[in-house]
Amino acid sequence: MHASGPGRPRRPGGSGLGDVVTAEQLSELVDDLATRGGLLTHLQLTARSNDNAKVRYRQGRPVVFVDPGALRRPDEEVTGQVAHELGHVAVPPSRLARHPFLLLFMWTALLLSLLVLAVAGVPYSFVAAAIANGVSVVAGAALFAHSQRSELAADRFAVELVGAAPVLAWLHASAQRHPDTKAPRFLGPYWHRADTHPTWRRRIDAITGSVEARPPGSR
Ligand SMILES: [Zn+2]
Repeated sequence: MHASGPGRPRRPGGSGLGDVVTAEQLSELVDDLATRGGLLTHLQLTARSNDNAKVRYRQGRPVVFVDPGALRRPDEEVTGQVAHELGHVAVPPSRLARHPFLLLFMWTALLLSLLVLAVAGVPYSFVAAAIANGVSVVAGAALFAHSQRSELAADRFAVELVGAAPVLAWLHASAQRHPDTKAPRFLGPYWHRADTHPTWRRRIDAITGSVEARPPGSR
C-alpha cells in the first residue's frame, strides 16, 4: 500500500540513509506526504535552533512547524518525524481536551475551594486547598492520558503512511538524544503517565508489537 519511498530528489551524491535534508526538500517531503495522507497542510521552518517539530493552527489551518536543526539529521529520521506530525493533522486532539475541559475543571476547583473557605472559614483552608489540588490532579491526569493517546495515534498514522522503518529510526534516535527519565521503580507506571508523551520505549514497543502482529508480507 505504501511500498515506495517519499520519492523526493536527493542531494547530488547522496546515499540515502545518512543524507542531510535541505529546507526545499523538507518542504517537498511535507507536501508529498500530506498529499499521500489526504491532508491539507504545509511546512514552516521556525527560527529556533532546536530539532523539534509540532503542528499548530494558523487561522484554522494546520501548519507543520519544524526547527531547522532537524535538517541536519538523517533523512529517514526526518521522514518519520514529519509523518508523525502529519498524524497530528489527521487525528487532531479533541477540542474538549484542548481548552474548555481544562478550564471547566480549574474553575470548578476554584469555586469549590472558595465555597469551602466562605462556609467553613479560614481554619478549613486546607480542605479548600485539598479540593483545588484534587480536581487539578484529576484534570491533569485526564489531559495527560488524552495527550498520550494522541501521540500513539499519530505514530500509528505515520507507520501507515511511510512504513515502520522511518518512524522507528526517528523514535530510536530521539530516545538516544533525550532518554526517558528514570522513574523510581515502584512509581514507574504512574510516573510516566504524568507526561504529555508516552516514553520512547512504550512508543517503540507499540509499533514493533503491531508490526509483528501483522501477517507476513503486509506492512
Ligand atoms: Zn506528537
